[in-house]
This record gives sequence, structure tokens and C-alpha cells, in this order.
Amino acid sequence: MAGLKSDLQKSDIKRKAKSLGATLVGFTNVQRYREYYPEAPAIFHPDRIWPEARSVIVMAVPLNLPIVESTPSINYQELYNTSNIMLDNLAYRLSLYLMDKGQAAIWAPRDGYGSLDYLIDRASSSFSQVIAGYLAGLGTIGWSHNLLTPQYGSRHRLVSVLTSAKIAPDKVLSQSLCLHCDLCRRLCPVGALKGDRRADFADMDMNKCTRRHQELKAAGCWPCGLCTKVCPVGADRRLFNRTDAKLYLKESKGQSSPEIEAWNQMRAYGSHR
Ligand code: SF4
Ligand code: SF4
Repeated sequence: MAGLKSDLQKSDIKRKAKSLGATLVGFTNVQRYREYYPEAPAIFHPDRIWPEARSVIVMAVPLNLPIVESTPSINYQELYNTSNIMLDNLAYRLSLYLMDKGQAAIWAPRDGYGSLDYLIDRASSSFSQVIAGYLAGLGTIGWSHNLLTPQYGSRHRLVSVLTSAKIAPDKVLSQSLCLHCDLCRRLCPVGALKGDRRADFADMDMNKCTRRHQELKAAGCWPCGLCTKVCPVGADRRLFNRTDAKLYLKESKGQSSPEIEAWNQMRAYGSHR
């Protein structure tokens, strides 16, 4: 397989991805999947969905923390849907840019499942954006199974472009960002996260999580995202003055504050209450 065409640099691809709307951009390759995830199900390897794939460009857009905090609400649903449209557009357009430059490329849609019903008893999409994001150096995988980034914790959405070109991968983060604080387990509304908080990952009941999403989708206020909301990791917490997670525990006890009132305001209209 060829490397990048001589008139196209890795920095050009990164610049293009940013100009299309990506906030975070990282690169990984198929060898790294073998190195880091030899035991991972082969479906997660990029060359299983496209045998010619050699490199993966992973991109993320952030979610606005105060809207994530309103979950479940129509505002969060709209944010989620809009970020998805943005991601698929930008990945499709980046693949077209690469093709125009003489590099074969395809796009791996940000979710890769057609309906939540398909996830019951088979909770895998056609490509794992979380594993791709980790291997591309964007962040580390937290106890909650979410990708945690230094900038936004898990308050982001991901998409990838696969290309047959060999591109130098970015460095994988060596230190886990997860604080093992237990907040995601304590505040998950259906107890889907279980196990030893010191372990690398929770024992996750995927069906419980999916059923929660099905309920919320029917009510017009999905996804759940409570584990994303409460995760203390991410510089966005300082930006939005949300460094004290006690606020979330207060909310879970039915107590009030101006912030909690604001989230309730967003929840009160436009979807089932
Ligand atoms: S909420 Fe705490 S335990 Fe859960 S992923 Fe975030 S840092 Fe890790
Ligand atoms: S998305 Fe909601 S239901 Fe699923 S693990 Fe996170 S908090 Fe629990």
C-alpha cells in the first residue's frame, strides 16, 4: 500500500478536517490495533470492514456541557442529533477530499447501527469509534466505557475516516484519565454500570443501558448520557464553572439550586416530562 501522495501531508488532512468542523483530530493505523488489541473482536479492526484500510483519521466535536446537564430533554436530543449530522457530513466530505487528492478513503458513520432494537443482546455497532479515538491518541477509555478526552471528558461525539494510505499515527495517551470516582456508577439511573471501581472498566449491562435509551427515545428526549454529564474529567468543566460534582449528587437527592432549576426548565417543555 502506498504512503501519502507527495503533494499531500498529514498536516493538510488535519487542517482540512478542522476547516470542515472537527475540533479534535487524531490518526491511528491497523498495526496499532494488532499491537494494543490483539484480543479484541476482529469486528473492531478497520481492515475487517475494508480490507484495504491502513490508517484511520478520528475526529470529534464537543457537546455543550449545560445542555448535556439537562438530560433527558429535547434540547439534549437536538444537540445529539445535530452533532451526528455534523459528524457524518464532515467525515463524508473528508473522504471525498482524500479521494480528490488521489487517496482511497471511506467513512465509518458515527454510530453504525440502524435502530436501538438491533443492540439488544448484540450491543456492537459496525465500527468502534471509542477504540479508534483511544488508538488515535484523543483520550483514554474510562470505567464507564466512554472515551475520556482531556478537553471535554466524554462530552463529545466521534467519527472516523479510513484510508488505504499509510500515515504516521499519533501517540496513544499512556496515563488513564479516569479518576475512578464512582460517580458514573452512582448516578446511572438503571444500574447498568457495576463492578470494582478500581478495575479498568465497569461490568456493563448493555441491555439495561439500551432499554433506558429506548424509553427515552419514545419520550422524545434521548439519549441518556448521565454518565457523560457527571464525569469530572475535562477542561470544559472550568469553562462552564462546573468543577464541583456535588451539584449532581444534590440533584439526585431531589434538592434544588439555580442550575438544577435551569435543567428542569429545559426538561419541562417540548418532550414527555
Ligand atoms: S465518572 Fe469517574 S469513574 Fe466514571 S468514567 Fe468518569 S472519572 Fe471514571
Ligand atoms: S448512558 Fe445512561 S443508562 Fe447507559 S450507562 Fe450511562 S448513565 Fe447508565
